[in-house]
Amino acid sequence: MTRMTALLERNEQFARTYTPSALGIPARQLLIVTCLDHRVDPAIILGLQLGDAPVIRNAGGRVTQAVIDDVAFIGFLAGQLFAGQAGQGADDTLFEVAVIHHTQCGTGFLADPGFRRQAAAATGLPEAALEASAVTDPNITVGADVQRLLAAPSLPPKVSVSGHVYDIATGRLTTTHDARYP
Ligand SMILES: [Zn+2]
Repeated sequence: MTRMTALLERNEQFARTYTPSALGIPARQLLIVTCLDHRVDPAIILGLQLGDAPVIRNAGGRVTQAVIDDVAFIGFLAGQLFAGQAGQGADDTLFEVAVIHHTQCGTGFLADPGFRRQAAAATGLPEAALEASAVTDPNITVGADVQRLLAAPSLPPKVSVSGHVYDIATGRLTTTHDARYP
């Protein structure tokens, strides 16, 4: 028995009616970047189905260099997959990256210097990096991260970026930055 036992039973139920699909373009032509918070599961709050959209999650849903690198690779991969699909012209867009930050984010504690000092000592991460990752006002940080991704030299040209804020209290997602290209 592990804590996974109950979930393995759920997986057994899932696998009974599962139909595999081939690697291809995500059905929604979207890539989601959001917080790892267990209250902000994109599959549930956005009703994603298997094959709809890749999801990148980290603390805060921040656009870090690691996220930029993943977006660049997925953009390349999508370009290759698109090239193999009939009926796709050179002007087609690849996908939209939707950056989603949320209210009540746990990274908000990092805005407090005392908490941040303790976190740095416990994790070995630089205090400045922890401070930069804090989401205290998601409306502000999501805008900064949309700009950061749009400014990244490795962002594929056929990829657009949008920004959104998810309200934990209401379950509602609001678009704060409409999709645009670099
Ligand atoms: Zn969060």
